[in-house]
Amino acid sequence: MEIPKTSKAMVLTKFCEPLELLDIPVPELKPGDMLVKVVLASVCGTDVHLARDELSMHPPCPIIMGHETVGEIYYLPDSVKTDVCGTPVKVGDRIMWSHLFDGTCYSCKVLHEPVLCERSRGYGFSNAYELRGGYAEYEVVLAGTDFVRIPDDVTSEEAVGVCCAGRTVVNAFDKLYDCGGIRQGDSVVVTGVGPVGLYSVVMAAQSGASKVIAVDISEPRLEFAKKWGATHVVNSRSFPNAEERVKHIRELCGGRGADVIIECSGVLSVFAENFDILANPAKYLIIGQTGDGEVSIVPNKFQRHNAVVIGSHSGDIRHYIKCLKFIQAHKDKYHFGEIISKKYKLTDANQALADMRAGIALKAALVND
Ligand SMILES: [Zn+2]
Ligand SMILES: [Zn+2]
Repeated sequence: MEIPKTSKAMVLTKFCEPLELLDIPVPELKPGDMLVKVVLASVCGTDVHLARDELSMHPPCPIIMGHETVGEIYYLPDSVKTDVCGTPVKVGDRIMWSHLFDGTCYSCKVLHEPVLCERSRGYGFSNAYELRGGYAEYEVVLAGTDFVRIPDDVTSEEAVGVCCAGRTVVNAFDKLYDCGGIRQGDSVVVTGVGPVGLYSVVMAAQSGASKVIAVDISEPRLEFAKKWGATHVVNSRSFPNAEERVKHIRELCGGRGADVIIECSGVLSVFAENFDILANPAKYLIIGQTGDGEVSIVPNKFQRHNAVVIGSHSGDIRHYIKCLKFIQAHKDKYHFGEIISKKYKLTDANQALADMRAGIALKAALVND
């Protein structure tokens, strides 16, 4: 197998500037490294913020973004025979992979929380010349990275959302279930129905919840949420004030408020307002808050509502696998591939980012031509 000398990539060379099309030399592969050809790389809301240095983490430029990637194995070292499930793999198979966790630190070894790995190496956030981002023709998958083969009956469009939003929600739901989860008949409110919110809606819809109420400011997103199992939708903008909105949502929950709230909007005021929607007792799962902003809340609202508040971010290969299984099991009922609202050529990545920022694309995805 001839390893290509260079790979086209759309590179973030400077924050707040358009990505640049560069030919990046393919780095020398170390023992156990794989090279994949990017099949589909979806654009995350995180990328939109990363491109403007608006995240709480500040990796240095140049960066090849893209951490939601379906890749086709192009070079497979002899040492790699199977994915983490033991499924044999060969050149041409489609795979997805988590960030690289070292497996030896306290978080990996003692806590069994690889997401907290002290020496993790990410995809989509690292130096461009390491070729570890999806906004490219090829990507290096480092030796030791957990990866899973995508089943043949799951399309790349159906699968790609697993790589970020999907696995994040599975991880968060695992934590929610450690705290009692969603019980039969519960009312679940999901605030913000971008991709993370949509996977929350669909997984809540498949639980024992009697109501899954999606809240957003975008009518197209709310319509989409209905297709993924929301029983009620609420457009926040159609209320004159927060008080009216809170009252309406509490009424939709049968007057007692939400047994479970899942915050996926990332909006600080929504995070704070949700405390007024909680039932008593209630669980409040926070998945959408990724910025550095501050908001004031009254601590007594936790106490008065007997609230269990759970924060969760990202996921490891367990959550990728579980999410893929969920998609495989329910793909006839829900059209998971429709989350990719538009595909763009790799070289049109700037347009894809602009459309995501403008809210035109629910999820944009890049393809190599
Ligand atoms: Zn993402
Ligand atoms: Zn570790």
